[in-house]
Amino acid sequence: MEDPMQLTTVRQDEEFRERVRTWLAEHVPSEPPPPHGPGLRAFDMAWQRAQYDAGYAGVSWPAEYGGCGLGLVQQLIWFEEYARAHAPDIGCSFVGINHAGPTLIAEASDAQKSYHLRRILRGESAWCQGFSEPGAGSDLASLSMRGVMDGDELVITGQKIWTSFGDLADFQELLVRTEPSSQRHHGLSWIICDMRAPGIDVRPIRSMAGVPEFCEVFYDEVRLPLANVVGGLGNGWKVAMSTLSFERGTGFVREQLELARHVTEMAERMRAAGQAGRPAADGMLARVATAAAEVRAMYAMTLAMISRSARGQAGGTEASMIRLYYSELRQRVERLAIEMGGADALALAGEPAAIAAAYLDSFKVTIGAGTKDIQRNIIGERGLGLPKS
Ligand SMILES: Cc1cc2nc3c(=O)[nH]c(=O)nc-3n(C[C@H](O)[C@H](O)[C@H](O)COP(=O)(O)OP(=O)(O)OC[C@H]3O[C@@H](n4cnc5c(N)ncnc54)[C@H](O)[C@@H]3O)c2cc1C
Repeated sequence: MEDPMQLTTVRQDEEFRERVRTWLAEHVPSEPPPPHGPGLRAFDMAWQRAQYDAGYAGVSWPAEYGGCGLGLVQQLIWFEEYARAHAPDIGCSFVGINHAGPTLIAEASDAQKSYHLRRILRGESAWCQGFSEPGAGSDLASLSMRGVMDGDELVITGQKIWTSFGDLADFQELLVRTEPSSQRHHGLSWIICDMRAPGIDVRPIRSMAGVPEFCEVFYDEVRLPLANVVGGLGNGWKVAMSTLSFERGTGFVREQLELARHVTEMAERMRAAGQAGRPAADGMLARVATAAAEVRAMYAMTLAMISRSARGQAGGTEASMIRLYYSELRQRVERLAIEMGGADALALAGEPAAIAAAYLDSFKVTIGAGTKDIQRNIIGERGLGLPKS
């Protein structure tokens, strides 16, 4: 039967698919990633290096910067095959590959590009994002962390929060207020911060799923060279918007395909249980079938958006619609998995613990990369032309 989660493509693309499928089958790490910590960093960097050596690093990056220079269809094929091969989450490479690198390509000086881009692709440097502050999350323009000019340096003092992989990263895309009396979007700068600079204190935060996946970062008169500012002093808002547009780009297709696989596996478990004389509880079959239909609808929306985007016709709100749909669907699916597993799924050890962990982990997806309310505001205001709330 035709795989509904697989793009229909021309012969040249099918050859690419075959090549990628073969390489992934032979090279995807056989062990799961270690828990968060230096071991995870080493695992993620080695996997990134393996992709680089084979010519598959930076699938959305232009070839002139060492990327694969793939068109949108081949990028999708890569993500489809990546999910099919059960390849690991790119973890510590995520920020560098998916938004810091692309931002540098779009906005950085030649010197900044030549120092950083290859290091990201080769798995030699991990990046994190320092945008959110305790008083500035959804309303990023209200950020208050200051950078004061002193000769050819900026002296940074303040706090960031929710910095994913902050404890394992080498560099950070850091957004600070460099014009003292400026308000809102004005007077901000996007600067490359060396996470080992004196005066930085990184304190991991444990999420409700038990993973220290993000951190508070404190800066006490941290000195960064002005040469690290990307896109010009005071132009940080424009550069940050470029970063956010990449953060919500094709990299997120992998998560959708993972969710689709998860639903397929739930259906298979239900079928096997039925054959073993343990039919599903009332209503479960309909809920799994609905979830299966929903992941297909979501992927169809994504393909439609990418197809329009390739023709230069993408509407600005489609990415928000898909992000919102994905995040709420993922939470429904993880809840369904818990209900299917019954009391066993709440066990604290062994295989069932993974179901409980995935359920707890799913709460974050309606917050990170723009909360579900913010996505609704974007759809309402920019897509439907409704007045601001
Ligand atoms: C897993 C994860 C990883 C993250 N990683 C990073 C990272 O690496 N770097 C980084 O800088 N940040 C990171 N973040 C932070 C993320 O960007 C913020 O959590 C997000 O922007 C929301 O900000 P906030 O937490 O301050 O909540 P707030 O903005 O304070 O929102 C609180 C509540 O109010 C609602 N709300 C706020 N404004 C409006 C509005 N205008 N209309 C309607 N409702 C509204 C929100 O939807 C939410 O429910 C991460 C978050 C998560 C969950």
